[in-house]
Amino acid sequence: MSYDAIVIGGGITGAGVLRDLALRGYKCLLIEKGKPGHATTAASSHLIHGGLRYLLYDRLTTQTTCWDSGHIVRIARPLLTRLPILWPVYRGHRHGLETVETLLESYDPLQRMKGGRPHLRFSPEEALRLVPGLKSEGLRGAVVFDEWWVDPVALVEANLASARRAGADMRTETKVVGLRRARGSVQGVDVSSTDGKREEVAAPIVINAAGPWVESVADLAGTRVPLRLQKGTHLVYEKDIPSLKSPAPVLGFILEAEDRSRYVFVIPARGTTLVGPTDVATLDNPDHLSSSEEEKRYLLASVRRYFADFPESYDRAVVGARPILGQEGSEKRLSREFEIYDHSSRDGLGGFITVAGGKMSDFRLMGQETGDLVGRLLRKEAPCRTHLLTLKGEPVPEVSSRPVPSKSLKRFLRRHPRLRELHALGHLAVDFGKHLFHPPREEIRRGTVEKFRQYYQD
Ligand SMILES: Cc1cc2nc3c(=O)[nH]c(=O)nc-3n(C[C@H](O)[C@H](O)[C@H](O)COP(=O)(O)OP(=O)(O)OC[C@H]3O[C@@H](n4cnc5c(N)ncnc54)[C@H](O)[C@@H]3O)c2cc1C
Repeated sequence: MSYDAIVIGGGITGAGVLRDLALRGYKCLLIEKGKPGHATTAASSHLIHGGLRYLLYDRLTTQTTCWDSGHIVRIARPLLTRLPILWPVYRGHRHGLETVETLLESYDPLQRMKGGRPHLRFSPEEALRLVPGLKSEGLRGAVVFDEWWVDPVALVEANLASARRAGADMRTETKVVGLRRARGSVQGVDVSSTDGKREEVAAPIVINAAGPWVESVADLAGTRVPLRLQKGTHLVYEKDIPSLKSPAPVLGFILEAEDRSRYVFVIPARGTTLVGPTDVATLDNPDHLSSSEEEKRYLLASVRRYFADFPESYDRAVVGARPILGQEGSEKRLSREFEIYDHSSRDGLGGFITVAGGKMSDFRLMGQETGDLVGRLLRKEAPCRTHLLTLKGEPVPEVSSRPVPSKSLKRFLRRHPRLRELHALGHLAVDFGKHLFHPPREEIRRGTVEKFRQYYQD
């Protein structure tokens, strides 16, 4: 069998790339060393979200992610559940209620691109009606906004199924152990299956979509792709948690954490609740990650600040490493944008592409930009179709959508993180002015349980 392209890695990035290539008509193969979607993707917080927090220092990434999440919602709607998230604000919190609401006012127009509803603000009394188990002492009020919950493994599988229907092939439990090179170009891969069988597979293009392993796959090609791996742990509860009881059918939380500089999510869906994630720099091999006792203690202590009787015993802890692009700056300000490296122009090695960084929430765009590059390298360009068909293959109605921010502006700001932060804070300063002089409509400012149902129920 001869292929136009081989994709290494069957997480959400590789699955999105494979679907993009297959729908353009390229003959492609995906190789995954384990089970598709079971690595970082499965360890995520299960959210298709725009990145509200990045509005504080990297607005263009929030804009791009909201835009692409909108496409994901349209192509994968049956896999998604709207998840309203309550953000309670207490006396002494680092971000006061007006700041938090300004952030939401800034987010509302962007997150509309992904079918999000406007936020609602709650008085302490109404917030406690919504969540009677929430600590009442010091509560100043709360805001609610919505994101999308997804089963990440099902999202990977649906992308792979769509790619296979379009003619793609897939090999699982098969590891890429070498890259074949000749005359300054990659020509294919050496693989080893779990039964120890080794073989070569040839293709003029090889795409490294190995998530936190992109550095080790790049090593096989003699190139370097710097990443900053940030380990994240969730505690998983597979039982009812009485303190989270609410008249709302489903409700998540974002809570200022114990250290007061980070936030922790509580994400309930389909009988399981996630508490997390942590965010810890790691140099560990992604094959051997583990959660520390300190991470677990931190998550429990953070959530018990708000729900005193939150159960201490959880069913398991899940850990993954965010494959963040190598960059300067503090861990709290790392940009979550992605980059597609063409190693022919970057390192003089033809036929080799690395897809690094990004989020599950912009996987489709990562696939699209990779597909554009593959078309140029093959000199066989074909248009992207991943936004025109659902994962089941039905046509998606055309939407008029805003353009994503320019790549060159994003790259410039990545080289100048301070400027990027000033750009974000400048927007927030304008929005804070609007918030003070033109506060949101009464309807938004006076959230009630009844309005909550009206806003967030589909
Ligand atoms: C704690 C945490 C929470 C997160 N929450 C969210 C969230 O809520 N929303 C969101 O949008 N993003 C979230 N992210 C980010 C998101 O999960 C990742 O960006 C995304 O899952 C990365 O997918 P991937 O396919 O690049 O990597 P992975 O899912 O790790 O897939 C890479 C695959 O490559 C395979 N592989 C590696 N080497 C080889 C080889 N040599 N041969 C063959 N196969 C190989 C691996 O087995 C693996 O399956 C979170 C991340 C973390 C860690």
